[in-house]
Amino acid sequence: MPGEEQLLQRIESRREELVELTRDLIRFPTVNPPGEAYRPCAEYIGRRLQGRGFAVQYVHATGTPGDTERFPRVNVIARREGGAPGPCVHFNSHIDVVQSGAGWTLDPFAGVLQDGKVFGRGACDMKGGLAASLIAVESLIDSGEQLPGSLEISGTVDEESGGYGGVHYLAERGWFTPPRVDHVIIPEPLNVNRVCIGHRGVWWAEIETQGRQAHGSMPFLGDCAIRHMHAVVERLERDLYPKLAQRRTDMPVVPSGARQSTLNINSIHGGQAEVPGFPSPCVADSCRMIFDRRLLIEEHMDSVKDEVRQLLEQLVRDRAGFRYALRDIFEVRPTMTDRNGPVARSTAAAVRRVLGVEPEFICSPGTYDQKHIDRVGKLRDCIAYGPGILDLAHQPDEYVVIDDMVNSAKVMALAARSLLFRGA
Ligand SMILES: [Zn+2]
Repeated sequence: MPGEEQLLQRIESRREELVELTRDLIRFPTVNPPGEAYRPCAEYIGRRLQGRGFAVQYVHATGTPGDTERFPRVNVIARREGGAPGPCVHFNSHIDVVQSGAGWTLDPFAGVLQDGKVFGRGACDMKGGLAASLIAVESLIDSGEQLPGSLEISGTVDEESGGYGGVHYLAERGWFTPPRVDHVIIPEPLNVNRVCIGHRGVWWAEIETQGRQAHGSMPFLGDCAIRHMHAVVERLERDLYPKLAQRRTDMPVVPSGARQSTLNINSIHGGQAEVPGFPSPCVADSCRMIFDRRLLIEEHMDSVKDEVRQLLEQLVRDRAGFRYALRDIFEVRPTMTDRNGPVARSTAAAVRRVLGVEPEFICSPGTYDQKHIDRVGKLRDCIAYGPGILDLAHQPDEYVVIDDMVNSAKVMALAARSLLFRGA
């Protein structure tokens, strides 16, 4: 296949350009929160693709969380129509990054180049993946082949805070709905030999136990909400954790410890807030727990919620004075596409070709923007595939390996080419 061979060579010859592009992207401090530098970063991507014959649109997600005059939620979507009818292959990357945090030995926004790696906040998650997809698509266009169908690239915001000003906003307005778009690759950092077909679901909620305030010297005149919360924790340990541990999934989640239902207790706060030097002298009238329950594709949100409510209702029956409130904070349903679907199959074939290894099909323990493309956009043929190393995401001294970026760009280009020409 001479077309494919030339394409791979062309990408190899653009290694330096790929590195410089990644460094440029890292230098936009697109930190979320608050949502810094979104517009200049989106415009940088837009200008570049405009020069390659893409029709570029900027979509300002007005009124979404965090959207202000100072921090506008600006997304960029670029589309290039081919010479004949055919499917649309879309590469979606989020341009926001998490705060740099402590522990860096290098400037997180300089794009430092060292030992065959590019360092910086977002290098791995996921500006390295965005740069690889840009080089992949550009190389495909520059090949001069008559490409059918269309190619799209988007740079979207707010993935790290739920995607409401980004992919969710666009999906609600039809940007990800077939037949406008047929196949989506999200270059999230899941390792260069892995094709990620979905993610677990999430339910974040708060349990509040309620008591009655009294003087700390006469606790029998009050009712301690913290002791009630202790009873909740005890029931979780006794009745829920063993059940969750036994609930295994067919989803190929990595790491394998996440191949079951999980519940994390994120925080517990009880009693009056402490003023330094003045501890609370009272019996606690309220105690709140925030928890993070992760769901499997085999589970239903309603029964997951019901399970926790049942446990609390049982405490109402068993324990004198037990009163509670259960409040939803956030929820995402699990999602998983078919590993034999067009986008997963063509990407897997490209991994075999470029890396000479058998690709691993995985699911992510946490969520990413696939949820919105699937549930809101109603587009099932979506995967995540990108060069970053999963474990480095959000860490200090985050980096992306240059060889991985070049290889993933080759995989993305081959996968897109075969989807355009053959639909798989
Ligand atoms: Zn990410």
